[in-house]
Amino acid sequence: MSLSTLILVAMGIGIGFGSVLHDFFPSAIAPLDQYLLTPVGTSFLRLIQFVVVPIVFSSLILGLTRIQNAAQVGRYAVKLILSYCLTSGVAVVVGLVLAVVIRPGVGVSGSGTIDMEAIAQSQSLIDWLVSLIPTNPIEALSNGNLLQVIFSSALIGVAIQLVGEKAASFVSFVESCYAIFEKVLSLILYVAPIGVFALISSVIATEGLQLILKLFNYVFFLLVGSLLMVGFYLLILFFLKAKPIKLLQSLVPALSLAFGTASSNAALPILLKDVQEEYGLREDIASFAIPLGTALKRDGSAILQGFNAVFIAQMYDIPLTTSLVLAISLSTFLVSFSTPGVPGAGIIMMTTVLSAAGLPLQGIAIVAGVDRLTDGFKTVMNIIGNVSNAVILDRWETPQPSESQNEMLRAID
Ligand code: ASP
Repeated sequence: MSLSTLILVAMGIGIGFGSVLHDFFPSAIAPLDQYLLTPVGTSFLRLIQFVVVPIVFSSLILGLTRIQNAAQVGRYAVKLILSYCLTSGVAVVVGLVLAVVIRPGVGVSGSGTIDMEAIAQSQSLIDWLVSLIPTNPIEALSNGNLLQVIFSSALIGVAIQLVGEKAASFVSFVESCYAIFEKVLSLILYVAPIGVFALISSVIATEGLQLILKLFNYVFFLLVGSLLMVGFYLLILFFLKAKPIKLLQSLVPALSLAFGTASSNAALPILLKDVQEEYGLREDIASFAIPLGTALKRDGSAILQGFNAVFIAQMYDIPLTTSLVLAISLSTFLVSFSTPGVPGAGIIMMTTVLSAAGLPLQGIAIVAGVDRLTDGFKTVMNIIGNVSNAVILDRWETPQPSESQNEMLRAID
């Protein structure tokens, strides 16, 4: 069986096992979760995180050394950010319109608990921007902040180009780092099904499937929102003649891992590999755009935050005025770019959106129970959005042959 099939099977077994535990053996849940499921799941997440920084650092440096000049790096960044802003805007609109039209929060009454103190106070936007610049390169690598790693690698990559011959031995060192950590990743992936099983069964055993039924409209329409957004990307890629179906097929292992772990960061190493080896995305673009998108681009989170804020407003009978909708849209848009790619990040960031819009934070308690499930497909959406933007950049950078050139090529064939 292929890795993605194994992960999907493990996920299915995990859901079944978790439900049986929840319904028939409630007293066994706490010890089993505490001593087996959570430690195994967390160990797997840590193992994957072990390779994220070295792979991003080395692949980005190698990718950048293949780019002809520093101006090209700047051009990639500008085009990507432009495309991120436009597509994230669409994601925000999808979430908001869906919630306004479907009205999933009307008639829902509050229940559920969440430790409000556990929800960290988010940084201000300015602090966040300043913190992207690490004070030393080793700190960037050791604290695992992806944007800091990207910043350091980009700076070093550009300097390598300027230094020329003298950097050759460093580049070959980075090349062997990349080969070594790619091998480490392939070893770690052998235990991915076990890790995914543990993560999923722990959630289902502790939360139960019933909770999902209670918030069925919320979960279902969030899924619909993500599917609409995927449809939007497929259409764009189709018009760009970028083989959208082949792209989706190449993403299956990364997407199943993303659903199982609810972490964009965890899926990054395998995503980076497959999008080049299976789909054929150019190395210089993939190695720059995919880590950047993993750090910044969160369409799934953009859909969720807007939808969730309107849901909570409806639940508390708060009228949706134009200024409220604007506050939700703007904060959702900004928050989507600063949500870390880790499980449960969305629920922490909800506090920023709700506070910015003046909505009651208690609403978070109601949706917290289904967060792990919505987090799964939100992460899948985040990855599809990230990769689609990388492919859009690739099309934008690669001049397409005109119709007459195509005819000539066909004639030669
Ligand atoms: N879990 C999501 C991800 O890793 C982030 C979020 O919670 O919004 O992409």
